[in-house]
Amino acid sequence: MINPQELDLLRDALATLAEGFTDLPDFSTDIDTEAVRDTLELVAEKMRDNYPYFHPLYAGQMLKPPHTIARLAYALSLWINPNNHALDGGRASSAMEKECISALGEMYGWDKPLGHLTGGGTMANLEALWVAGQLHPQKTILASSQAHYTHGRISQVLALPFKAVDVDQYGRMDLDALEDELRGGRVGTVVATLGTPGLGALDPLPDMLALAKRFGVRLHVDAAYGGYFCLATELGARQKAVFQCIDEVDSIVVDPHKHGLQPYGCGCVLFGDTGVGSLYKHGSPYTYFSSADLHLGEISLECSRPGAAAVALWATLKLFPLESGGKFSSWLDDSLIAAQLFRDRMVQTKSFTPLLEPELDIVVYLPRAADSATVSKRSRQIFEAVAARDLHLALADIPVEIVHKNCPAFEPTTATVSCLRSVFMKSEHRDWVERIVRILEQAASGDA
Ligand SMILES: *Cc1c(COP(=O)(O)O)cnc(C)c1O
Repeated sequence: MINPQELDLLRDALATLAEGFTDLPDFSTDIDTEAVRDTLELVAEKMRDNYPYFHPLYAGQMLKPPHTIARLAYALSLWINPNNHALDGGRASSAMEKECISALGEMYGWDKPLGHLTGGGTMANLEALWVAGQLHPQKTILASSQAHYTHGRISQVLALPFKAVDVDQYGRMDLDALEDELRGGRVGTVVATLGTPGLGALDPLPDMLALAKRFGVRLHVDAAYGGYFCLATELGARQKAVFQCIDEVDSIVVDPHKHGLQPYGCGCVLFGDTGVGSLYKHGSPYTYFSSADLHLGEISLECSRPGAAAVALWATLKLFPLESGGKFSSWLDDSLIAAQLFRDRMVQTKSFTPLLEPELDIVVYLPRAADSATVSKRSRQIFEAVAARDLHLALADIPVEIVHKNCPAFEPTTATVSCLRSVFMKSEHRDWVERIVRILEQAASGDA
């Protein structure tokens, strides 16, 4: 729950930070404390108008509360407000960012990759595809039809041709369709999504890698959502095999602000080949690069970036190192187990059926009904009925072919089917599955 006592920790750390600057001549800033208090109270009241994202009964979209350490370290760093563009703007936080990049790279078996933090997965993917376009000018980017919608738009921004590749019944990139596209030529880069935003599916990376090598194209992994799961111990054999070959790809995107316990504004792009750094050369006369050490602004498309994001991530990694079998990975296991439990419980219910076996912690499920229009209508009704009981889910429009292949008994009457979707991102979800199922069943029988 929201615990105001956390602020005692921040007060102590802030005093330690202030001690580092006591030899400067004193000055004070005029602050109208009463006016600040009134405004802050107003903000607190306004912020009540939100779903309770931090609570286990929020089991909807990909929203996970930042860990206390991340929240406090981020807040603490704001009294310095470092800018990780250049060492002049943020010495300590730039060093922390480089350590974070090493740790994230190591998670994928990469020793000292090139990379940096970004505002999020979209900026990180933009950067990876910008590099791809520099190396394969005017060549097509391929991603599956279940990939994040921004890949098409990013390609547009970069003026690169983009094509969506069909998926199979599990929502994974179809290998025959991919091979057909590669045979057609003019492809520069294939995007493999590890954790598709809708279904949480993992594209078949081992086979995609073999194809990418055969046709001489780049392979970029968008693991903005699923990237941390390589640490989990509860993965199935297929999922393990996918993550095991991730070190062979050209670039990886992972979002610490998705599963990495960070506040928003923290994505990450990594390149296995540090040589791509030379593509970023710029000659800005305004940039204040004061030393020969690497300034992160030299290898980033963005200029100013929040050092606070690096500070928060560094503190989180210090407390919870990226170790398989460690505390952090046990939380990912909790999420995997929660999804599996929930899926199994859905099979047992009279009113619902799961669409697929979850590959990660995303479960898509649908009210049992005779045709797709009725499923969509029931999904909406249940979405609203459980919200009235404080349970918050998400709706996902899934292509009817995927639903029909997995649930052949129902009649496809529309192009897409609105299904219910839950992301069990919080480790607490594991203990809340029964309760969530009960609310769903009550809602389904109550308004049947
Ligand atoms: C969330 C997500 C993105 C976009 O990332 P943002 O951080 O929201 O910009 C891209 N790809 C995948 C697979 C995602 O899950």
